[in-house]
Amino acid sequence: MIKQKIQELSKSLFNEVIANRRHIHSHPELSFHEVETSAFVAKKLDELGIGWERMADNGLVALIKGEKPSDRVIALRADMDALPIYEANDVPYKSQNEGVMHACGHDVHTSSLLGTAKILTELKSEFGGTVKLIFQPAEERLPGGASLMIKEGVLENPKPDAVLGQHVMPLIDAGKFGFRAGKYMASTDELYVTVKGKGGHGAQPQQNVDPVIITAHILVALQQIVSRFADPKNPTVLSFGKVIAEGATNVIPNEVKLEGTFRALNEKWRAEAHIKMKKMAEGIADAMGGSCEFNIMKGYPFLINEPKLTNETRAHAEDYLGKENVVDLDIWMAAEDFAYYSQVSDACFYRMGTRNESRGITSAVHTPTFDIEETALEQSVGLMAYLAIKQLGN
Ligand SMILES: [Zn+2]
Ligand SMILES: [Zn+2]
Repeated sequence: MIKQKIQELSKSLFNEVIANRRHIHSHPELSFHEVETSAFVAKKLDELGIGWERMADNGLVALIKGEKPSDRVIALRADMDALPIYEANDVPYKSQNEGVMHACGHDVHTSSLLGTAKILTELKSEFGGTVKLIFQPAEERLPGGASLMIKEGVLENPKPDAVLGQHVMPLIDAGKFGFRAGKYMASTDELYVTVKGKGGHGAQPQQNVDPVIITAHILVALQQIVSRFADPKNPTVLSFGKVIAEGATNVIPNEVKLEGTFRALNEKWRAEAHIKMKKMAEGIADAMGGSCEFNIMKGYPFLINEPKLTNETRAHAEDYLGKENVVDLDIWMAAEDFAYYSQVSDACFYRMGTRNESRGITSAVHTPTFDIEETALEQSVGLMAYLAIKQLGN
């Protein structure tokens, strides 16, 4: 049976997958600079005899064709970039590129997909259809490697029937995987606001236009976007984490700068909310004698896991891992550029548990102590191969 064959191959590949993961982990590169990582992936694909093409500078796309007849195409995606973080882990595979760290597990996704590619290559005669491997750059940085890869045609020639992607999750125990059908992750927009008034002596407010008090009103009023305008069934987040008024006890400043984030799970509402926020902030500032510049830097769209595909994939995961090792995920209001694939293709983005409390492996992604329980890679390489083969209709 194909399942047993994949499980055996995953076992025999385990050390190689770990070695690849550790190599990539110790040589992290920032978004849009994944030159060595991309060359490493290319070399590994060459060793497997898999032809590849470059896309979006450091991205790679490759095809593995099953030998049985089938027109179906399934794309498997991994991201390759790291973050500007100083690694605090004392491990043999610690980052050798100081100040850069694979703190989001993209080393894991890339090495896992290379392992999956090896399994699929070995099993070519056992399945029909085409697997498209996508190794993308720059998940962590706008405009997102996924959007560039799509612009350059990664989802054409051949066009995938579905795109599958996985991401590490330190909240879930290693060996378990999480799924959620439907809306899963949020769109994220960065807000840069400047409230302008007229500064002066704090003792003479009548001669000034105080941007601090205008800002206070704007901050409170904008929460109505969430509490009064947003459909309660449609999760929305508005947070301002940076408010800078550089006056003093007796100095009213000329302006106040704010930075925040707006997150949602509906593109129509997202566009409406942008207009409402801007109008409200500008209107309040104007009514109080000041002015407001409200700039929105649009980030990734929301991520939707196509329900039929995701339910099927979840069932296949139960089949491969055992029911007890498949868990349900909650909506997560973080963003991920896999969302771009999900906006234009049927897609399923699932989570790979990487936690091991007994070994102290519990740190969140994007922290200097993030690490994974590596045994999870044995399941992840095999699971993705199994999901692809099943989705190809075998
Ligand atoms: Zn990340
Ligand atoms: Zn990530």
